Amino acid sequence: MAQLYFYYSAMNAGKSTALLQSAYNYRERGMNTVIFTAALDDRYGTGKVASRIGLQADARLFSDTDNLFDNVMMQHRQQKLHCVFIDEAQFLTRAQVRQLVEVVDELDIPVLAYGLRTDFLGETFAGSHYLLAWADKLAELKTVCHCGRKASFVVRLDDNGEAVTCGDQVQIGGNDRYESMCRKHFKQLVWD
Ligand SMILES: [Zn+2]
Repeated sequence: MAQLYFYYSAMNAGKSTALLQSAYNYRERGMNTVIFTAALDDRYGTGKVASRIGLQADARLFSDTDNLFDNVMMQHRQQKLHCVFIDEAQFLTRAQVRQLVEVVDELDIPVLAYGLRTDFLGETFAGSHYLLAWADKLAELKTVCHCGRKASFVVRLDDNGEAVTCGDQVQIGGNDRYESMCRKHFKQLVWD
């Protein structure tokens, strides 16, 4: 039976690299895959998943209104799909996570979703919230804080390098940057 996997992490833990490696492994065995990524920060009108170590692959863009079950089913009818990959899975809606559950349960196609667990305030995104709740398998991709501890949190830093403690969950076109930190350092900067 196919399963729904959620690989979650903070920023810069190598999610896209892991996704691209796994997709490559399928294709190397002659299997057919599709990669989706969020339309959110797309600046060129075409989808691409790129990793920091230089790998990249074309991807289909998803936005809030897309029905991923219908989309996958149509492709699957044309050519049998062996695996569905989702990059930036934190941006899925609740409805879309349900659609992916249907892909797994009704079409029997494995879905591998990769995304952030929490936002810059330590709250789950909608996509990660429901993936954490409904996935068959959860796996953490680990990265480290500047102090050497495991980094499970993301801190949003403004132009002056100060932690941002309020604002929209998703910021488009700003100059802020993000840094992964352990819970202790996240708390000091954001909660205290
Ligand atoms: Zn730390």
